[in-house]
Amino acid sequence: MDVSGVVEFLAELPNLDRNVGDAARIDLLRNLEEVKAACAGVQARVTADLDASIRASRAERDVPVSQRGRGIANQVALARRDSPFRGGRHLGMATALVHEMPCTLALLERGVLSEWRATILVRETACLTREDRTALDHLLCADPATLDGLGDQAVCARVRAAAAEVDAEAMVRRARKAVSDRRVTSRPAPDTMAYVSDLLPVAQGVAVHATLARDADSILAAGDDRTRSQIMADLLVSRVTGAPHTATAPPITVNLVISDRALLGGGSEPAHVQGYGPIPAALARHWISEAVQATADPDTGDEARVTLRRLYANPGSGALTATESQARCFPAGLARMIDLRDRTCRTPWCDAPIRHHDHIQPREFDGPTTAHNGAGLCAACNYAKQGAGWHSTPRQQPRGQHKIEIYTPTGHRYQSTAPPLPKPLLLREVQTTSNVERILIDFLHTA
Ligand SMILES: [Zn+2]
Repeated sequence: MDVSGVVEFLAELPNLDRNVGDAARIDLLRNLEEVKAACAGVQARVTADLDASIRASRAERDVPVSQRGRGIANQVALARRDSPFRGGRHLGMATALVHEMPCTLALLERGVLSEWRATILVRETACLTREDRTALDHLLCADPATLDGLGDQAVCARVRAAAAEVDAEAMVRRARKAVSDRRVTSRPAPDTMAYVSDLLPVAQGVAVHATLARDADSILAAGDDRTRSQIMADLLVSRVTGAPHTATAPPITVNLVISDRALLGGGSEPAHVQGYGPIPAALARHWISEAVQATADPDTGDEARVTLRRLYANPGSGALTATESQARCFPAGLARMIDLRDRTCRTPWCDAPIRHHDHIQPREFDGPTTAHNGAGLCAACNYAKQGAGWHSTPRQQPRGQHKIEIYTPTGHRYQSTAPPLPKPLLLREVQTTSNVERILIDFLHTA
């Protein structure tokens, strides 16, 4: 079968005759599952081929060894419509399967092993030497019956037990390496809440929780209306931020993008919290009115401050205020504008936070330092973009949502579109003005 056969198979699939008996339906479900696993196997081989081919051509051009792999994972990610982080995982898994775990790859290609269970086998053997890994691959996957009937957890336990038997020292090294992965992350939770997770070595993790629990108990004993869980959550916030806030009165030190229609006209277009995502307009209005009242109250002084900035210049097109600088780097104001416009890394399918403000057309090719020629990127995507054969350009006309065209070394073109900016409101459209709204309008006039 040549490459076009895959495209034909895909086009034919929706025309599959589903007018069959239930026994045939069960067989069909099983067969389609095997097709998915087999596709993952072929994807692994194609990925390893691509990796080998790019590295070989770079070796011919005397590219230093350390730079031969640059940007390959990013191309895999764009092709699979996945984040660059996952692209790196796909590439690592493909090379491990092809070069070190032939039996696992064979089971995947035959549809016996699912892609996820193959991932478990690769992940749990990553700490072993190449020889040990290949031996374990043979032990567990040479005979399809060995892992037959085992669920994800059971496969994981089986691989770990076998790995510990082959090389106990490697498991200790793995535990030691895990400590270097400690980190704090946050992600949105339902009902405009957020999870903040702290991945810690077990002793520290237990100590953090036990300390919060102990102190919450003593506050409860002294008499408090809050529950133990609420006190623990409040203690965590006050100890990390150093401010005695409770969860119901957050300090407005967050970047909030809201349309003035939603702010003043009672509109329902959601506001966007930088680093979190959309929140209901009513909640944003509540936060802002509390902060505005605190700002206007001389007793609270500088505790809460509201700063308003205009993001758009043209109400019709929603285009960003034209801003530019003669500096080589993006000055703070322009960088903040790009952060608020782009929200996350501009590489398609990459959700990582913005770490770099990139000249889309580089400075050395006379790319100007403007919002139009600027893009927010994560560190990994900015690094990949420096590789040979990568090239991007902002779309010609600077109207509407900001667009970037990205060209990869194979000549594939991808487009990145910034999220829509909030729709503006003409101040004369405001019907009734409360005290808070009058203060906000004063702000808007002076902003
Ligand atoms: Zn990125």
